[in-house]
Amino acid sequence: MEILRGIAVGPGIAIGEAVVLDAEDFRIPCRSVARAAVEQEREKFQQAVEGSIGELERQTQWLLGNLGREAANVFAWHIGVLKDAKLQQGILRHIQEKAYSAAYATSTVMREYQRRFLQMSDPLLVERIRDVRDIERRLLRNILGDTREDLAHLTKPAVLIAHDLTPTQTAQLADTLVTGVALDVGGATSHTAILLHSWGRPSVIGLNDVSTRLSGGDTVIIDAVNQLVIANPDETTLNEYRRQESNYTRLAAELDTLRDLPSITRDGESVHLLSNVEFPHEARTSLAKGAEGVGLFRTEFLFLQPSGFPSEEDQYRAYLETVRAMQGRPVTIRTFDLGADKYTQEKRYEHERNPMLGLRSIRYSLANVGMFKTQLRAILRAAVEGEVRLMFPLLMSLMEFRQAKMTLHDAMEDLEEAGIPYRRELPVGIMLETPAAAIQVKEFCREVDFISIGTNDLLQYLVAVDRGNEEVSRFYDPSHPALLRTLADVMSACTKAGRDCSLCGEMAGSPLYALFLLGIGLRSFSMAPANIPEIKKLIRLATVAQARRVARRALTFETERQVTSYLREETRKLLPEDPI
Ligand code: PEP
Ligand code: MG
Repeated sequence: MEILRGIAVGPGIAIGEAVVLDAEDFRIPCRSVARAAVEQEREKFQQAVEGSIGELERQTQWLLGNLGREAANVFAWHIGVLKDAKLQQGILRHIQEKAYSAAYATSTVMREYQRRFLQMSDPLLVERIRDVRDIERRLLRNILGDTREDLAHLTKPAVLIAHDLTPTQTAQLADTLVTGVALDVGGATSHTAILLHSWGRPSVIGLNDVSTRLSGGDTVIIDAVNQLVIANPDETTLNEYRRQESNYTRLAAELDTLRDLPSITRDGESVHLLSNVEFPHEARTSLAKGAEGVGLFRTEFLFLQPSGFPSEEDQYRAYLETVRAMQGRPVTIRTFDLGADKYTQEKRYEHERNPMLGLRSIRYSLANVGMFKTQLRAILRAAVEGEVRLMFPLLMSLMEFRQAKMTLHDAMEDLEEAGIPYRRELPVGIMLETPAAAIQVKEFCREVDFISIGTNDLLQYLVAVDRGNEEVSRFYDPSHPALLRTLADVMSACTKAGRDCSLCGEMAGSPLYALFLLGIGLRSFSMAPANIPEIKKLIRLATVAQARRVARRALTFETERQVTSYLREETRKLLPEDPI
């Protein structure tokens, strides 16, 4: 049994067989074989070694003839590893003694081998890990044939283990039998994490080397409550987790019964609970979880599809579908927030030097006015059919806001000239996500119709910690007193100015911060649909007076640790049964 600690991004517990996805998507169909088949598996492995060596020798000959000795030497090391008697014996022993299938034994031993290289301090040796992966894949191909499977073809539920997933792969999980995910990389609010969160199943990320520690077929527990991944658990652990899993399912079912109850505090204050969505189909999930509207539609995900760039018509259809699905409830559409960790298919490989501080969000839109205007036209057209609000991301100056509004007027003129119906009067707001905008909140309040606080970015820029980098994720803590104070100041400025203010960062969906946010005056929370029931439960148990007291006290602490332990204690008084 092996226990790994990471960052939890989805709720609950998943138990299942691992599917390890590497760049070539090999999937190991079974972990062990019947005793009678052991000899056959040993032979399969030996043939795979011979086959792999044969391939490499042929490639070496070709390289020698065509590109010279230096190029031909590339595979000498691969051949050496494959001929290594100790390695072969190790794999054969696993097959013999544990009745592992040839593929599973190969993958287990080769991953152990990769891990040894990962731990080396010499960067040249760390580079060798790629070679080892290459050898593993070659062997697997020789054992399994070309039967690679993508996730869409899973025939039974499984837990997915991977180094990383692209937003596109993550978005497709909903159509598969995957029940939980564990990844090597990622921070709590990276965009892959956000999509995993919307998917609503247990995921733990930032685990560093989980994809080399586990092999396809291993039994694995994803414990998103305690941020753990447990590989090959012993019987006692497995039974305990099975019990917790069914408890969790029961709690989730209880929460769903709150769907149609009003979100109102014990002392009668209404609180709006809205959803964050990335794709139109999530509007239906939002309603199922009791959302009163969409507080954040992250439209850039429409731009990240492998099918390429969406036309004005594609976008119009997507916005319209969302607006219609919400049946008259408000829908806040954010213009695309590309750049940083979200690249279009064409720009996927041209990363900037410092992308979080680079050409992202509104800057990217203003630098690509044609694309920006196309999107604005599509939004203006869809807005005819519902209560749409428009919002621009990551503003750092009023000049940007004015420029964006000018582009909006240009888009309106285009539609006017073409005689296409559109909505002229729609509220236009900003996401407050930079310290600069927080400091200038009063000035922004004079020009915008509403503000939505994006704490995922605001925190990363306040504390100078990349939100997607697992190496520094321990410093990325929403309990930081500087963030709490900034939020209290922004709320108070908006209240004074009479500006509508909501919060749509991940914090809004975390029960730990609900009392604090309520206490500083927030009345509009936007979050992943899966979080709505629990936040509603908490709101219905709280009073505004109590929340104000909690917020006042939370603002007196000097460190994140004090804040967290205080908020946890206060939240547990209301939700003693829930994992906080
Ligand atoms: C945020 O930054 O808090 C936010 C909601 O936007 P995103 O996570 O899409 O950057
Ligand atoms: Mg943001």
